[in-house]
Amino acid sequence: METLEKVDSAFAGTSVEACYQCGKCTGGCPVAGLMDLMPNQLVRLVQLGRLEKAMASTAIWHCVSCQTCTTRCPQSVDCAGILDVLRQMSAEQGKAAPELRRVLVFQKAFLDNIRRNGRLNEVELIGFFKTLAFLKDFNIPLLMKDTLLAPQLMQRGKLHVIGEKVRDRAVVRRIFDRCTKPGKGA
Ligand code: SF4
Ligand code: SF4
Repeated sequence: METLEKVDSAFAGTSVEACYQCGKCTGGCPVAGLMDLMPNQLVRLVQLGRLEKAMASTAIWHCVSCQTCTTRCPQSVDCAGILDVLRQMSAEQGKAAPELRRVLVFQKAFLDNIRRNGRLNEVELIGFFKTLAFLKDFNIPLLMKDTLLAPQLMQRGKLHVIGEKVRDRAVVRRIFDRCTKPGKGA
């Protein structure tokens, strides 16, 4: 169990201790039905310093970061931010359940893509994700799934073979550096 000081420092952006378990965050969460632990229960685990249990929860990976919980909270607890930190810690410390491997692969492929280009290069993302997620398991059907949609997506301007990069990528690198400092989510 983490000490309260360590928990406070990791979640310094919000006042975890202010939560009084009213449940309004969970009441408004659009994906609560898919979660193994509800948003208010995750906040409670953080209050108690039971981070191991919170980090191993599948709920943190179902969260779609819509911020509804944060905006509904009468105590101004940044519940969505807490889940962000839990995801970051879970990924860094390898606490995510094995069945979530592909979710983590996608998250890493997505963030690396933005870090490199400053904006999303769809073809590069699909290539990295599919190779890392499916080629390793020789899962050829999933590797090839949706390939036939590519021409239609290109025609509609939703998929670009040659992706654009932002000019000042040093700014993007600085943003990533700031966000990935210890105790910050990314
Ligand atoms: S809405 Fe705020 S105070 Fe109520 S349970 Fe959620 S985090 Fe706690
Ligand atoms: S940010 Fe996540 S936990 Fe909060 S309401 Fe949205 S999906 Fe639910």
